[in-house]
Amino acid sequence: DKYLSGLDRSKKSFGDRMRALSNNFHGIDDDLLEQIMVILLESDVGIHTAQKIVDAFESNGKHVKDYDSMLDYLISILYDFYDESSDEPIKINEEGPTVILMVGVNGSGKTTTSAKLIQYYKEQGKKVAVAAADTFRAGAIDQIDTWANRLGVPCIKGKMNQDPSSVLVDACRYAKENDVDILICDTAGRLQNKTNLMNELSKMHRVVQREIEGAPQEVWLVLDATTGQNGISQAKVFLEATDVTGIVLTKMDGTAKGGVVLAIRDLLHLPVRFLGLGEKPADLRPFDINAFLMGITK
Ligand code: GDP
Repeated sequence: DKYLSGLDRSKKSFGDRMRALSNNFHGIDDDLLEQIMVILLESDVGIHTAQKIVDAFESNGKHVKDYDSMLDYLISILYDFYDESSDEPIKINEEGPTVILMVGVNGSGKTTTSAKLIQYYKEQGKKVAVAAADTFRAGAIDQIDTWANRLGVPCIKGKMNQDPSSVLVDACRYAKENDVDILICDTAGRLQNKTNLMNELSKMHRVVQREIEGAPQEVWLVLDATTGQNGISQAKVFLEATDVTGIVLTKMDGTAKGGVVLAIRDLLHLPVRFLGLGEKPADLRPFDINAFLMGITK
């Protein structure tokens, strides 16, 4: 399966580590709890979240009699912990363009993810356009423009240092006039100070809203999985600055910190929408907690 082979590329995945739990099963004892705790911490779940998971595991596991049922039970604990039932499906505008704002710090993989999303939605038969509104990072505009050309979708561009919001206005108008289904907006997120970031993001929100009712339908914060717990504190600044609706976790191919998915869930209360598993447009997978946990038994 494409999804799992992608995760296989990670250095030592969460599933690899869980599979390596000693199968010398003596019940849910201190030794087992400690092994699980170590794996969670090595996977960058973070002490706060790891403790909650271990506590839940310890307190409901009386029925567990052998190694295999212990693994099933562990998966059920993690599944319940993630609790995908509280997630809304991705919002789609039936009346006009669906606008997706991509936010995040430089280097997180925002532009690459925007290119990946072009391909993803194109494959779903959608008419896609992209706004190159990251007008602050040198190279970002050319980078997304090149991908848009290769993937055969229109790119509405700004100039370096232009107000990103004005690019978004042009892009929204283009999208309305040309019956675009999905408008992906690669925006700038300068994190030098919180007030600036807040002002910029709220302005982008406002202008998009003015152009298209109900837009932006989605605001996805792009986080680099290799930054692990640090990424979470960075994320909190964005969450305070704007209404983020979901997370895209990039660079899951090169990291041993995949457990950060569970910390994101616990600390940010947002759905993880996609995983980035490489640098090419095809290296994107919709996040699926079942597939993620399947790695534990496969
Ligand atoms: P931006 O500044 O947030 O727009 O970041 P970029 O999209 O330019 O990405 C920064 C670097 O990370 C580039 O070298 C990308 O090729 C790389 N990158 C982005 N996503 C992934 C991913 O999922 N896996 C890997 N291995 N590299 C990635």
